[in-house]
Amino acid sequence: MRKYAKGDSNALLYAACNMCGKELLIENGLLKEGCFHGEQKFGYFSEKDGQNHSFDMCEACYNKFIKMFKIPVEVREETEYL
Ligand SMILES: [Zn+2]
Repeated sequence: MRKYAKGDSNALLYAACNMCGKELLIENGLLKEGCFHGEQKFGYFSEKDGQNHSFDMCEACYNKFIKMFKIPVEVREETEYL
């Protein structure tokens, strides 16, 4: 979960892992550690029609999460780092 400065969606004030509750490191409004951000707008063909769900996971929880997959995540090397 993330909290931004009022009226500024670029100024991140607080972030925490939804799975374990750990507070994530933020410096000068930027997230400074590995984090998975998930967001889904559910539509008409869903039981959650009209709902927008979002969450964040620290890297340790992300690693546990993807270990549950039957098919592994696809990994590509990025040439530009974020
Ligand atoms: Zn976590």
